[in-house]
Amino acid sequence: MAQLLDGKALSLEIRETVKSQVEFLVNKYGISPHLAVILVGENPASQSYVKGKETACHKALITSTVVRVPDTICETELLSIIDRLNAYVSVHGILLQLPIPKHLNADRIIERIRSDKDVDGFTPKNVALLTNGQPYLVPCTPLGIIRILKKYSIPIEGKQCVVIGRSQIVGKPMASLLLKDNGTVTICHSRTADLRSMAKQADILVVAMGKPKMIDGSYVKKGATVIDVGISKVDGVIVGDVDFESASLEAGFITPVPGGVGPMTIACLLENTLTCYHTLVGA
Ligand code: NDP
Repeated sequence: MAQLLDGKALSLEIRETVKSQVEFLVNKYGISPHLAVILVGENPASQSYVKGKETACHKALITSTVVRVPDTICETELLSIIDRLNAYVSVHGILLQLPIPKHLNADRIIERIRSDKDVDGFTPKNVALLTNGQPYLVPCTPLGIIRILKKYSIPIEGKQCVVIGRSQIVGKPMASLLLKDNGTVTICHSRTADLRSMAKQADILVVAMGKPKMIDGSYVKKGATVIDVGISKVDGVIVGDVDFESASLEAGFITPVPGGVGPMTIACLLENTLTCYHTLVGA
C-alpha cells in the first residue's frame, strides 16, 4: 500500500510560514502584501475558488481585493482594469480567475498583467523564464507539486517523469520544473499512442487530464510516485483523475483527492504573492 503524500498538512505549514513572514514585513515596512483577484461573471466553481483564495489570504494576513465584473464586460474595459491594477503601488499581485467568457481573449488579457505582479506565472515573460530554466513566478499547481516531492525527499534527478496533460496551467509548466530538476520528462496528451505503457515507465507520474478516475493501477509502475492533479465532481463527490484504490496498491507514494495537490496550489499562491511583494517593495 502506498504512502500518502499529505498536501493538506504541508500547505498548512507553508501558510503558517507565510503568515509569520507577513507579520514581520508589516512590522518592518508598514505595508501589507495585497492580492487583487479579477472575477468575471458568476460561474459557481470560480466563485468558490475565489472565496477559498480570499479566505487563505485573510488567514495569512495578506490583503485581498476581489474585482467582480459582469460576464458581459468587453475586452477594452477589462484591459483598463488590469492597467489600473498594474499601476497601483499598493497592489502587489494580480490574478485573473479562469475560465473567462469566450468573447474575451484570455491570452491577450493575461499578457497585459505586469510580469512582476503575475502571481499565477502565466504571462509570456514568466513562461519564458521557466522554459529557459530560470523560474521566477511559477504556476502555483506545478510549484506545489515540486514542493510535495521535496518535502517527502522523492528524487527527481535521473528519474523517468511522465506528465499526462499539456495545459499551460499544469502540464507544460510541470514538465519544465521536472526537467529543471534533471528528471527525464515525457509529456502525454489525448493523441498519445498507448498511454498505459508510457505511464507505466514512470518513476514519477503526474496526472492532469480532467478525466475522473481514468488512471488505475494498470498504468502505474510498482513503487512509483503518483501525483493526482484532477478535480472533478462525480455524483456530488470530488474525485481525481486517478483511481486511488487500485493505483495505491501499485504506487510507492500517492496524493489523495481531496487533500493532495489542491491545498498546495493555494499555499503557493500566497508564496507567489509574497515574492511579488518582495520585488515591488524592495523588501
Ligand atoms: P485541460 O483540460 O486544460 O488539459 C487536459 C489535458 O489532458 C490536455 O492536455 C489533454 O490532451 C489531456 N487529456 C485529456 N484526455 C486525455 C486522454 N484520454 N489521454 C491522454 N491525455 C488526455 O485541463 P487542466 O490542465 O487545466 O486541468 C486538468 C485537471 O486538473 C482538471 O481536472 C482540473 O480541474 C484539475 N486542476 C486541479 C488543480 C488543483 O489545484 N488541484 C489546478 C488546475 C487544474 P490534449 O491537449 O491533447 O487535449
